[in-house]
Parts: sequence; structure tokens; C-alpha cells
Amino acid sequence: MFKMKVDVAIPNTKLDFFTYNTGIDLQVGDLVLVPLRNKLKYGVVLKANSQRDITGMKDVKELIESKFIPTNILRLYEWMADYYLSSLGEVLRLALPSKILKKYEYTQRPSIPPRITESPLPTYPQSNAIKRILTAVKHDSFETFLLYGITGSGKTEVYLKCVEDVIEKGGRALALVPEISMTPLLFKKFQERFDKQVVTIHSSLTDKERRKLWYAIKEGEYRVIIGPRSTVFIPVPGLKLIIVDEEHDHSYKEHERMPRYNARDVAVMRGKFENCVVILGSATPQIESYHNAGIGKYQLLTLKERIDRKPMPEIEMVDLKKESKKFISPQLETKIEEVLNKNEQTIIFLNRRGFAPNLICPHCGFIAKCPYCHLPVVYHRAERKETALLSCHTCNYKSRVMSICPKCRRRTLLYRGAGTQRIEDMLNRIVERLRLHPEQISEPVVLRLDRDTAKRRGEAEKIFEMFEDGGAKVLLGTQLVTKGLDFPEVTLVGIVNADVILNLPDFRSSERTFQILTQVAGRAGRGAKPGKVLMQTYHPEQYSILYSQLQDYPQFYAREMKLRKDLQFPPFSKLILLRVKGENEAIVWNEAKKIFDIVKKRRNIRVFGPNRSFYYKVRKIYRVFILLKTAKDFQHRRLKFLNSLRLKNCTLDIDVDPLEVF
Ligand SMILES: [Zn+2]
Ligand SMILES: [Zn+2]
Repeated sequence: MFKMKVDVAIPNTKLDFFTYNTGIDLQVGDLVLVPLRNKLKYGVVLKANSQRDITGMKDVKELIESKFIPTNILRLYEWMADYYLSSLGEVLRLALPSKILKKYEYTQRPSIPPRITESPLPTYPQSNAIKRILTAVKHDSFETFLLYGITGSGKTEVYLKCVEDVIEKGGRALALVPEISMTPLLFKKFQERFDKQVVTIHSSLTDKERRKLWYAIKEGEYRVIIGPRSTVFIPVPGLKLIIVDEEHDHSYKEHERMPRYNARDVAVMRGKFENCVVILGSATPQIESYHNAGIGKYQLLTLKERIDRKPMPEIEMVDLKKESKKFISPQLETKIEEVLNKNEQTIIFLNRRGFAPNLICPHCGFIAKCPYCHLPVVYHRAERKETALLSCHTCNYKSRVMSICPKCRRRTLLYRGAGTQRIEDMLNRIVERLRLHPEQISEPVVLRLDRDTAKRRGEAEKIFEMFEDGGAKVLLGTQLVTKGLDFPEVTLVGIVNADVILNLPDFRSSERTFQILTQVAGRAGRGAKPGKVLMQTYHPEQYSILYSQLQDYPQFYAREMKLRKDLQFPPFSKLILLRVKGENEAIVWNEAKKIFDIVKKRRNIRVFGPNRSFYYKVRKIYRVFILLKTAKDFQHRRLKFLNSLRLKNCTLDIDVDPLEVF
């Protein structure tokens, strides 16, 4: 009887593959059912004709579906497992949501015929960028373009024009967005132009819907696929173009599970495996990306001007050191009043939810803290006083608000600092005082957008729509209001506290500060009227704040690169963060020290730690980290053994190219 051996990758395992005997003629990419530890599991054939010889080999039970995953996509998954020091089993767990693996009868439907709506004429810089991208598309060659365009310079139109050409020639495009809920406008623009050929993947799809969509996309029903980071895994026939919008955004990084991939970098590799063109777009590229453009790894395309030569907003700093302890300075208040009186719109940004970040006792120095994380809890006001909460933003622990200080028993507790709820109150008071013309406004005049007001899907979109209608005058929010919004009536952006991110103990905190401030400032003056930005800060001289005021990315880049070079941080080195987590504090440190000693023996690696994580204790779990620094060309795959280390009552999280080091 015909027999051969095959290597099969099985989702949710710590190994890359298992080897089986089979009498079935199997090909790479087939979906099969195999026995594993007395259970039947789904797996993907990684290699037919395996030469591996092991005893007690079992037989493949059944072929479920042939050509389930195309070979080049499987190679991409393999690359991910190696690069992120993870396993193919772990990659498959993320790449293929569980219900996809069941047998599914896909009914072939004709793909939607290309149809394109009239589009505006591109500007000269836009058409220049489009031309260069499309030349690469035409030659089916792998090429990565960094589209660096200032806010309001029309990057989206470049994407649309390139996709248009790809569709006309019968190809397909994939567009990654930081999060669908945060970029409703991008989807809307694609849909307006390409109608039903566009499909989006979003997190609230049921498993069944997701599976249906996955097959429909794989079979080529759609021409343009838009989705968050996990969309990068989906097989797309005839893929010609991958777009990563806001490539600097941290939500492209998998934050919880292994492999801790960055979808931007995976997209670039996918372009390489599939010989297609990749566009990375941003007004504030990640330092590494701009560096890659500088050394010729990426092609740099620049859009230096806003569309129709609209001016950039004028940015004014308010030095909070010179102001009385007000959260909204008199300057900002006056400006808000002016804009309200002119019936224009304002965006107010504060990257902090809740009413006040601290509840303190000025008498004895008590600070209310989370019993699990030992970090200050945030006071969240509620409509009824009894339902007000103290909430830990790290582990989500919640408790009732106390009225008596638990330490000194006095009734002297105070709220310190301001979150979005408190600022909302202040803005409402300004609005009330002004007695605006009732015909020009609709209630509520002030809209708040943060994770508390937009918990469920669709709520953020609803708030954006209310603001777009024009009846609401002020949009107040956290980072959700900084991303890609395009409201032409916004003439004022107020930044309540520019320093929030700067205070994080991380080598990227300046970069993050520059990015967020530039992005939020870029929301002003996108329509006919010029925009103004007021930036409140205690550190007006800090370079990331200074250069965001000057709106000078190249200068910021030069300054930041100098610092990175001095400290040998990326792009001058490669970082790998190892985080050991466990309930027993002593064991966690012990295991961390063991790992430290193992890695220390390897050549060409500098090892730092073990150190307490900034969030040292989260939900009773202690967290300790070790930082590895290597040369950029270091073959870090040699460290893959770390993923299969057996630790005592601890887990090890391996983060290659971490975005946060604390
Ligand atoms: Zn007290
Ligand atoms: Zn906590």
C-alpha cells in the first residue's frame, strides 16, 4: 500500500509541526484531521514526503479540505513563527480563528464585477506618488513604499487611486487599518468609490460570519479587503497591493498572545512572499520606518503640502507652569468661546479616562490604590452618586468610592488631576454661560468619546456622526479622537495635557508624544477655514513637544536618531523583551534569573535585568522582564529554544521588536 510521511502543523501547540504516516496523497496546505494525545485535532500539512523518522508514528485520520492554505501564505506563517520566536502552532491559532477549521461547504458565487465611481483629479504630488507605486505594481515586483504625507495631504486619495488601478486590471488589494471603529472614514471612502467590492473584517463578527467571510475572500469574491491587524493573515487570490494605513500605530502590534507580531512588518514580508507592492502610510512614521526609507529598504514618497495648499494649523503653547492650577487655561477657554460663538467646531484631547486620576488624603498622604496592581485607581463619576467607582485601568479592578480616609479616618479625601469626565463638566459650563443660539446647536453640545462612552461596537461611529452633523460643537476624547478624523468644520484643537505619555518610562515615549500631538493637531483646519491648536504643557522646551509645535518631523527624526544612536536603541540594535509572569513573587524572580543566566552565556547578546516591570503586579500576577539587545543582523532565530523552555509555575512571554520596554 502507498505510504508516506507528512509534517503537520497543529494550531495551539508549542511546536512547529508533528509527523504522521498517511496512505492519502496529501499536498502542502491541505487541512487534515490527526490524532494528538488521544484527541483528534485539525492541522495543516506543512511538508509532504517528510524524511523525519520517529517511532510510534500515527496515521492521518482524514483529509478535510485540499488546498486549504496557499503555499506562500504558509511560508509567511513559518517565517512569523521563526522571527517572533514562537511556534507555527501558535501562529495558526491567531491566523485561523477556531471555527474556520471545521468542514465548510463553500458555495461558489461569482466575484463582484469591477465598477468604479468618478474620482477627483489628484494633485501633482499625489499623482507623482501614484505613478511610482503603479509602476511597481505593473511589474509584479515586491517593493515597499513609505508614504510620508503631512496631516491633510491626501494620503487616502493615493490609496484609492492605486486600488482603482489594481481593480481595473483584475487584481485585489488588502488595506490594514489600526482599528475599524477608529477609522470609519477610511472605510466609508473606499465604499463610496468601490461599493460592494469592498468588505471589512471587524471584531464583532460571529465565528460563523467570520468563517463565511474568510472563505468568500479566499475564493476571490471581493476586490478590496479592509480590516484590523489580523486581516494580514487571510489568503487573497491575485493580491497586488497591501496598504498599511497609519503604519506607526501601536494597535498593529499583538499585545497579548504569542506570537507578538507587528502586522505592519508581517505585511511587508507578505509582500515579499507574494511579490506584491506594499504601501505604508503615515504623517508621523515610526522612526525605524523612516530609517528604512533612508537606507533604501523602502522607497520614500513625500506629500509635503495639504490639499489645495490649505495652511497647516497654527500651534500655540500654553506653559502650565505659568498658569494657575486650572485644567483649562484662560487662553484655551477664551479660544473655545470664540469658536463656539462663530458656530465652528472644536476637538479637545486628553489621554486619560474617568473623572480624576487620583483620590488622595491631603491630611495623611493616603492615595487610593488597586489592591492587586498597587497603582493609583481612577475615580469614575456616575449619574447617581452611589454608583460612582474607583477603577484600576491596568487590571480593571473596581471598587466603591470611600468617603472617609481609611488611614486617618478623616473626611478630607480629594480628587486630584483631571480625566475626560471632569473636563466634560468644565466644557459644559462654558457652553451654558455662552447661551448659544438654539437653532445652531443640538443637545448634547459637548460629546465625549473614550472607552467608557464607546464600549460597544457602533457607539464610536454614532458619536462621530453626531459631530459630523454639526449640531454638536465640541468633541472631547482620548486617543480615539486623534486618528485619521476629517471634520472640515473643526477650527480649534485643544490639548489639555501634552505630557501624559511623556511620563512613561520608555525609550519610545518621546516618539509617541510627537506622533500623538502631531496627529491630533492635524485635525484642525482641514476645511475652508484655517485651524488653530492650543497645546497645554509643563514641558514646552522638551524636544518632542517643541518639534510637534513646529510640525517638523524631519527635525524630530534627526534629534531622536541621535539619542537612539547614543543609547544603542532601535534602529541601531534589535531588542527582544522576555517577560516572566507568575503568582509567586520569589519563583518569578528565580525563574527570571535562570533565564538570564542561560541567555547570558550566548555570544553577541547584551542582557539587562531581570527588572521589575512598570506594571509589576497585575491581577495578582507578578511581572519581571529581561531585555536582550543584539546587533541588527544577529540571527535571533537561534533563540527559538526559549519558547519551549519549561518554567516552574511561570509563563514566559517573548516580544521581538517590542514597542514598549517597561
Ligand atoms: Zn488620611
Ligand atoms: Zn489593578
